[in-house]
Amino acid sequence: MPDSVCRNCRRAGEKLFLKGEKCFTPKCIFEKRPIAPGKASATQKRRPNLSEYGRQLREKQKVKHSYGVDERQFANYVSKATLSGGSTANDLFKMLESRLDRVVFRAGLAPSQRAARLLVSHGHIMVNGKRVTVPSYQVDASDIISVRAGSASSALFANLEERLKNHAAPAWISFDAKKKEGRLTGAPRLDATVMPFDLSSIIEFYSR
Ligand code: SF4
Repeated sequence: MPDSVCRNCRRAGEKLFLKGEKCFTPKCIFEKRPIAPGKASATQKRRPNLSEYGRQLREKQKVKHSYGVDERQFANYVSKATLSGGSTANDLFKMLESRLDRVVFRAGLAPSQRAARLLVSHGHIMVNGKRVTVPSYQVDASDIISVRAGSASSALFANLEERLKNHAAPAWISFDAKKKEGRLTGAPRLDATVMPFDLSSIIEFYSR
């Protein structure tokens, strides 16, 4: 039975890397079957040319799946970014990257965004010494993010120091593997990373 998460990659027409290590192995469903779900025959492998609207819609879906946010939350982020008065794309990026589950993932504590979300919602992550189970919590530069003491010895964080040696966190995250705590060193910035999505086209989609 095809994996429901992997269907998002097949629908998007590209790998969204939603399942951690599996995405980098030959087991990746997209490698084996890079066609949209439900398209059974070889003649349907070619994807139709998308209209501008279709392209923007697909870009939006890709970002939503990659960050694991639902439509209501995402529209809310776009609305706030639009009203911020600064660069809308950068402010949208900042809100998405400041989510607690995203920070946990980007710090290297979990192999995928989904796994990071579970770490947060199951209470393994603390913010300023208090357990926070809300994945959408917006992390501030003054917040200290840490692994709950009772969880630190669990299999979830086994070999964390070793794992983090090979992990490249973005420039705005600092994480001490020994102490199992970290923080944002500044606001996430679009120009400090390679963004695989076209946020501007998504903003245009919502301004229609
Ligand atoms: Fe599944 Fe990851 Fe491959 Fe996407 S990239 S199809 S999530 S294994």
